[in-house]
Amino acid sequence: MAKQTVLITGGAGFIGSHLCKKLLAGNYIVICLDNFITGSRANLEPLAKDKNFQLEVCNVSSTINIPGKIDYVLHCASLASPKDYLDFPIQTLKVGSLGTHNALGLAKKKKAVFMLFSTSEVYGDSLEHPQKESYWGHVNPIGVRGCYDESKRFAEAITMAYHRVHKLDTKIIRIFNTYGPGMRHNDGRVIPNFIDQALGGGNLTVYGNGKQTRSFCYIDDLVEGILRLMVSKENTPVNLGNPAEFTIIRLAELIIKLIGSKSKVIFKKLPQDDPQQRQPDINKAKKLLAWEPVVPLEDGLKRTISWFRGLN
Ligand code: UDP
Repeated sequence: MAKQTVLITGGAGFIGSHLCKKLLAGNYIVICLDNFITGSRANLEPLAKDKNFQLEVCNVSSTINIPGKIDYVLHCASLASPKDYLDFPIQTLKVGSLGTHNALGLAKKKKAVFMLFSTSEVYGDSLEHPQKESYWGHVNPIGVRGCYDESKRFAEAITMAYHRVHKLDTKIIRIFNTYGPGMRHNDGRVIPNFIDQALGGGNLTVYGNGKQTRSFCYIDDLVEGILRLMVSKENTPVNLGNPAEFTIIRLAELIIKLIGSKSKVIFKKLPQDDPQQRQPDINKAKKLLAWEPVVPLEDGLKRTISWFRGLN
């Protein structure tokens, strides 16, 4: 059978580059689009020589023009770290809205399957716990996180409209906190921050009282879920994340222990609209995709720490 072609927007980012690697190993042709606003060329270095890999430097919020056959369009491009979307709110809004529109237009032209990389942020500072796909969310549209949350909510709405109007085969994943090798040192999210701080012997900056929770999914588990959804028949949103929930303070203590560091925890101001509790309900993914995460936090952190040490 002829190889299928997958186009990934944001393919040089943390999740995108892991996905590129896995797709190439799975015998797909991969076209990666990135403007490197947060993506990194180093993430793609191991793939550069693969004859089935093609990199196009472009801004998907402007236009996407790729000749030839494309079977899947995975719209992964986004500024996903709160630090990044606070620094670049307009680019964040544009890639979630204009970028999604362009990627959908490409999928329609190519008669390709389309997948939107959405986020648990569509639930906002959730009033329901754990979060099921049926929950409509609790989002402050004009707060500082609104640029991310609302652009992803718009992205979901336009994806469903293309599905309903143009009969496009669309998929939506809502990704919960994900971590692993390949995250940027200056990413700003909690796991890279804590690992860098503990490795450097500095204090770990816990925002607020540290009692807020997150549920952390190791990258390999997430990628497996994405690949299963990509070839499934499901068109409505599916949560992908690890339901094991941790307070941020517990995460800080665990990272200090695993690194064997003498670092202490210090408390800083909680960012505005920081969600208090986040835990995915993954029953839908379990049922539809026979998927659930298998890497416990401690194991995933060990692998991530060793990557941050420059060991793998
Ligand atoms: N956080 C923290 N210290 C840091 C970075 C983040 O305490 O140095 C907290 C942040 O306030 C939030 C949680 O860790 O409650 C997860 O933040 P992150 O930026 O990783 O992503 P989010 O889940 O908020 O999108």
